[in-house]
Amino acid sequence: MSTTLITGGTVVTASGTLDADVLVEGEKIAMVLARRPGLEVTMTADRLIDATGKYVLPGGIDVHTHMEMPFGGTSSADTFETGTRAAAWGGTTTIVDFAVQAKGTSLLATLDKWHAKADGNCAIDYGFHMIVSDVNDTTLKEMDACIEAGVNSFKMFMAYPGVFYATDGEILLAMQQAARSGATVMMHAENGIAIDQLVAQALAAGRTDPVEHGLTRPPELEGEATSRAITLAQVANCPLYIVHLSARHALEAVAQARDTGQNVFAETCPQYLFLSIDDLARPDFEGAKFVASPPLRPKDHQDSLWRGLRTNDLSVVSTDHCPFCFKDQKELGRGDFSKIPNGMPGVEHRMDLLHAGVAAGRLPLTRWVEVASTTPARMFGLYPRKGVIAAGSDADIVIYDPQARQTLSAATHHMNVDYSAYEGLEITGRVVTTLSRGRVVIDDGTYQGSTGHGTFLARGLNQYLL
Ligand SMILES: [Zn+2]
Repeated sequence: MSTTLITGGTVVTASGTLDADVLVEGEKIAMVLARRPGLEVTMTADRLIDATGKYVLPGGIDVHTHMEMPFGGTSSADTFETGTRAAAWGGTTTIVDFAVQAKGTSLLATLDKWHAKADGNCAIDYGFHMIVSDVNDTTLKEMDACIEAGVNSFKMFMAYPGVFYATDGEILLAMQQAARSGATVMMHAENGIAIDQLVAQALAAGRTDPVEHGLTRPPELEGEATSRAITLAQVANCPLYIVHLSARHALEAVAQARDTGQNVFAETCPQYLFLSIDDLARPDFEGAKFVASPPLRPKDHQDSLWRGLRTNDLSVVSTDHCPFCFKDQKELGRGDFSKIPNGMPGVEHRMDLLHAGVAAGRLPLTRWVEVASTTPARMFGLYPRKGVIAAGSDADIVIYDPQARQTLSAATHHMNVDYSAYEGLEITGRVVTTLSRGRVVIDDGTYQGSTGHGTFLARGLNQYLL
């Protein structure tokens, strides 16, 4: 078994920092040895990595990505191959992507289809959630089979009528079914029925620019849907995870539910922490680059989200990575904002942007690791295999230089998309080395991974539940 020794670094975990060396044996971490003055231990290994002055982190876990996802007649631009490679460049070593049930098809056939897309193509490990868009007796029964197959989180939509939208009754049935097995329902919480009326009104009035995407999806309708989802989950006694929470109104509903002890969790995404509706309002159709749902909010929501991250009302930061190229894809919505494919690229920059938050004093260092790796691992049944630097865990390790400066740009990123939502943004910190199960994937500006190294992760249940 080949061994790697990472020396001189500061190990950062959710619980603290430790000056320690890390020995990797094969795919696993074999030992974490604290360095102390006067204590001399000699270890040897096949490969030595000097991490002096660097952080040694558990690899990032992005539990919300959409690789090669069909949407509105097109498909998100990153494949599992290109998307997982870009993730590794940015220090993410696990993704959990969404298998998407089309209406009239079975969940298990959907799962097979997504395995076929991902298997043999990923640079890092991956799992799946299941999007349930057709609730009936067959699919409800199939949810149990999905859980057996290591997919135990089911996403539903209160938005997108006619596509993914589920009625309150359908949501209740799926929640009841999930609750019987302890599975989690994930919710896209926006009131899609009301939004569709506002969209029709805007178009009828000739308001067609990208900014209308934000104006027709007001934060109140995210707050309302979040509250409704929480109530339905309470009635069904089902654990609920609100995806891509963007608005203060929704955060207040989550905080209130958590205060009463309900199993309600939520994630936000870097775009809601760093970008705003001002970006959607950029002229000459450039705002289309920032069209995602829920939409970017007025700037004053950002402070609430950072606070929610600190206080754990927001437990996870994922990306909702769903890239569409500006040319030919976003352009489908010129003259009609409702036809702009919904989604933004981000899988490569989550760790860096959150570290920028650390550098700016908005997030404690250990909390960075917690929201980006440890909590996602626990929330989605991967801990302690993933999400921690400890003996016995997978050697998914990131060596991070907290002093390096970098400028984010489409010219230098590795995602298969022709623009960066953060073009020109200068930040402090960057990944030096990424290991996935003991294998060096990124090292000092070079990709050394291989397509198909990543394996499917059958996940357990949410570990925050009793
Ligand atoms: Zn999504």
